[in-house]
Amino acid sequence: TVVTRFAPSPTGYLHVGGARTALYSWLVAKAAGGKFVLRIEDTDRERSTQPAIDAILEGMEWLGLNWDEGPFYQTKRFDRYQQYIDQLLAEDKAYKCYCSTERLEQMREEQMANGEKPRYDGHCRDNPNASGDRYVIRFRNPQEGSVKFNDHIRGPIEFANTELDDLIIARSDGTPTYNFCVVIDDWEMGITHVVRGEDHINNTPRQINILQALGAPVPEYAHVAMILGDDGKKLSKRHGAVSVMQYRDDGYLPQAVLNYLVRLGWSHGDQEIFSVDEMVQLFKLDDVNKAASAFNTEKLNWLNQHYMKSLPVAEVASYLQWHFTDQAIDVSKGPALEKIIPLLADRVKTLKEMASSARYFYEEYEAFDEAAAKKHLRPVAREALEVVQDRLASLTEWHAEAIQGAIQAAAADLDVGMGKVGMPLRVAVTGSGNSPSLDVTLELIEQEQVVGRIARAIS
Ligand code: GLU
Repeated sequence: TVVTRFAPSPTGYLHVGGARTALYSWLVAKAAGGKFVLRIEDTDRERSTQPAIDAILEGMEWLGLNWDEGPFYQTKRFDRYQQYIDQLLAEDKAYKCYCSTERLEQMREEQMANGEKPRYDGHCRDNPNASGDRYVIRFRNPQEGSVKFNDHIRGPIEFANTELDDLIIARSDGTPTYNFCVVIDDWEMGITHVVRGEDHINNTPRQINILQALGAPVPEYAHVAMILGDDGKKLSKRHGAVSVMQYRDDGYLPQAVLNYLVRLGWSHGDQEIFSVDEMVQLFKLDDVNKAASAFNTEKLNWLNQHYMKSLPVAEVASYLQWHFTDQAIDVSKGPALEKIIPLLADRVKTLKEMASSARYFYEEYEAFDEAAAKKHLRPVAREALEVVQDRLASLTEWHAEAIQGAIQAAAADLDVGMGKVGMPLRVAVTGSGNSPSLDVTLELIEQEQVVGRIARAIS
């Protein structure tokens, strides 16, 4: 069976690049009916934090990238790593290196001065006299031949072993190093496909050599290209939201973010909209683009609007509720969210905007929009508001059609166009010059509220 993993280092939140890697990895597992493992690579104790772990889990959950196993924590697996380090030492596939920091530094400087790539010279590799009280453990990397693998995204890749030096697998305090932990974990967790960022591509040949020394199977690899900002530079905080949860806060639906992420580096003809089920069916690692992709907020907005309009309204409502709470708008005494979503989905790009522009359904506005009031609530509008207030107050049925009739009748009474009544009415009731069609808006606000708000506007 296919087993994939997402293996974030918890040194920050789940960012867009990580989320895309997680999604691709998750899709590979789902498509094959396999398993998806979550592994927290927290061996860097200085930089790993609990809030970062929580943020990563929260981001994964919000996106719906559920894991079948884990989360595993590398810091809880030191015994496992130690066992394999001992085994490699016993088999002479690893050795103790007593070289002092000074020696290593001097070696490095000389190599750099000669224009060589700094690498360990193997001083302790076959030196029976090497001794001391401090040592690290190095992997005995093969010195001949090369490491080849066929990357699903980047094609055939080959590294000569002469380019790789003897990697430190345990530090002088005995703790295992990053590349070694990854190898042991990928093996023990039965990982068949490693999907990760291309910044790890230089680690891959080293990891393959260690796997082979242990007699472990070598997984398949896919190294995903970077994401760039719309200015062509590496994506960073400067490009606005880079944490996945920031997208939630900014009013995006997880469906839109997933759709956006899957297309960032992968395509299927010219199709733009993919439900998660379709992604599972159609996604292929081999179709992922090896060039970096550029972030495009316009497209994300477009997708978000698509999903606000097309997802089942109850589902959109559950995400919209979060924003009302976030903006401290109490929606318990107003129209059901399911009613306002169809009215507003066309008019806003995000759920955050939707919530803020729907405030008047649930609360009396505090102040009129200044420009709208200046234009439409001039003294001449007073009469129109009085007439329409009477008309609306005397309605015995409160629904869009009756409301429309009352507005028309008021305009006829005054012998003016509909707009001369409608606009002042809109500003009086919603506080702004911008709202969905008045008849349905007023229907949802309820008669008593509407009449009261008009009274307040003309008082
Ligand atoms: N922990 C690594 C990172 O967050 C990923 C390593 C891997 O996927 O092998 O960049």
